[in-house]
Amino acid sequence: MEPIVPLKGFDKIIQPIRLTGKSKILFHCEPNVPCFKLCCSDLYLPLTPYDIIRIRDFLKLTTDEFLILYTEPFLLPKSQLPIARLKMRDDAEKTCPFLGEAGCTIYPVRPLACRYYPLGFGLFRNRDERRNEDFYYLVQEGFCQGLESGKEMTVDEYRQSQGIPELEEPVLEWAEIIMKKESFGPIEVPEKSIELFFIVSTNPDRFRDFIFNSKFLEIFEVDEETLKKIKEDDLALLQFGFKWLKSVLFGEKHVQKKKTTPSVKKVRPF
Ligand code: SF4
Ligand code: SF4
Repeated sequence: MEPIVPLKGFDKIIQPIRLTGKSKILFHCEPNVPCFKLCCSDLYLPLTPYDIIRIRDFLKLTTDEFLILYTEPFLLPKSQLPIARLKMRDDAEKTCPFLGEAGCTIYPVRPLACRYYPLGFGLFRNRDERRNEDFYYLVQEGFCQGLESGKEMTVDEYRQSQGIPELEEPVLEWAEIIMKKESFGPIEVPEKSIELFFIVSTNPDRFRDFIFNSKFLEIFEVDEETLKKIKEDDLALLQFGFKWLKSVLFGEKHVQKKKTTPSVKKVRPF
């Protein structure tokens, strides 16, 4: 399956060993290592919807400003779903736009993929047990001198040390949507639904506008409490968006259509 959050370049050597949270790794990184910052250029660096919200807020930008200045759309190769990735600088090394003299200038809100490195993360559907399983693997790049050094730790300990679980949890459903679309193979999905996936994945302002300033609420059942939350809270909006996407893309029943009334009968938003 396609990795959801590894994703620092396709040309890297990925150890073909599936790791679990209990697997042990040796890794150490700090500003004094001779390879400091070498891993911050020429990247395929995907942003999760929560990365976008956190970095946008840290930079005090609007969502549109952040997306225009720092990102570009990208089609995930297997699922063919569009997401946003960081746009590298137009210099010889193609450095990350957030790389400064002293390292990462957005370190407290750095993307999930940066926190994972040198690990990659994927989701696997265990069909027999009908559940999703996480897996991890090591991305081994010649220049990284942090691998095989430092003290031994488990993958789970490494994830904790990078603050990964609390940033990953709010986007797990998003990762599941990507995985599900991938496992369905080349099924035809209406272009409008793909566009809506991109809006939910990248731009909470536009998604909120779509909910409150279109015929959305004439078509879908959304209770008052949820409406109140998603009006102000971007994370609640994301959670709602993922459930809605699952309904729209896969026919799941998380967000139901209202019983058809004559006034909405002809409305076909997607
Ligand atoms: S966001 Fe920060 S850690 Fe990630 S690649 Fe850019 S400079 Fe490096
Ligand atoms: S290349 Fe490896 S050890 Fe060097 S700064 Fe990057 S992650 Fe740390």
